[in-house]
Amino acid sequence: MAKGLYIHIPFCGSKCPYCDFFSIRPTDELIEKYTLSVCKALKNVPYEFDTVYFGGGTPSQLGADNICRILEEARVEAKAEITVECNPSDCCEENSFDFSALSKSGVNRISLGLQSGIDTERKALGRRAGVKEAEAAINRAKKAGIDNITLDLMLGVPGQTADTLKESVNFCVSSGAKHISAYILKTEEGTYYYKNRDKLNLPDEDACADLYLECCELIERSGMRQYEISNFAYPGFESRHNLKYWHCEEYLGIGPAAHSFIDGKRFYYPRDIDSFMNGCAPVNDGDGGDFEEYAMLALRLTEGLSDKKTRERYGFGIPKKIFDRAEKLTDIGLLNIDSGRIYLTKKGFLVSNSVITELLT
Ligand code: SF4
Repeated sequence: MAKGLYIHIPFCGSKCPYCDFFSIRPTDELIEKYTLSVCKALKNVPYEFDTVYFGGGTPSQLGADNICRILEEARVEAKAEITVECNPSDCCEENSFDFSALSKSGVNRISLGLQSGIDTERKALGRRAGVKEAEAAINRAKKAGIDNITLDLMLGVPGQTADTLKESVNFCVSSGAKHISAYILKTEEGTYYYKNRDKLNLPDEDACADLYLECCELIERSGMRQYEISNFAYPGFESRHNLKYWHCEEYLGIGPAAHSFIDGKRFYYPRDIDSFMNGCAPVNDGDGGDFEEYAMLALRLTEGLSDKKTRERYGFGIPKKIFDRAEKLTDIGLLNIDSGRIYLTKKGFLVSNSVITELLT
């Protein structure tokens, strides 16, 4: 069975003040060396892939020509979903990032880091480009024939209100996006946001919860359907690649900090670009794919955990003790049980970690 391929690009043009991801500012030399290292890591891989995802960091910093070089090394099926994450500021100018070259190489999905449809909010998030530039990037991708576009939105941005959120969602819908990912901003330790959280006018936890529920409703009113805690799509435009993670299917990750799950084994590359470029092998991370892990991932989805699918995969159904615990959580509106399926409600998604822990431990 074909697998998913994740290529990590650890480069960013500048550091966003809330982000603690591992990323560095690239030079031409580093880009060339990194591209060659990814190509080398892919060279003798025997698997076929039906989804490919270039994530980061900022993959558009690598340049379209290098993304095409990498794709040439992988065995990618003809009807594969191939996604590239892009930053609007890399792609908005005519003659900048070459979407046509990507399209010719089979790339058929672009994920654009919009974060907000309001310029002041984008600025507060440290984003260099404004909404006009994001619009230009979307139009350039579409003109090159890539119209499966997903936009990222952030909830809990300094100064964000229900009205500005509505404007952001309206921007996404009217831009023709087929998919939206909406994440609640977390202020990770060590970031500028964390150090200055008292001065930043950040919405508190209750306000973020309200923004999340409002966001779900606004997006669903457009005809998109929520299919995961943070993900919404028109029918047929769900991310096939990310569904592999949530369905506990196999994928190969290439690049520093990229994780893999193949033949029941988990392994990863250390979070160190030099060791990756020096050809260090991935590190063993033990066995994966047991029922607990499968259930934990399935419960992130609106389809939830199915007794039938569990039986098909493991030869046994959802244990009775989990149904018993679930019964108690239905009483307080955090989940539902229906036809042998346990699934979280929107209120449950807001506290998904606690609900899932309560169910499975
Ligand atoms: S948020 Fe994205 S673009 Fe900004 S620094 Fe982090 S990885 Fe880079």
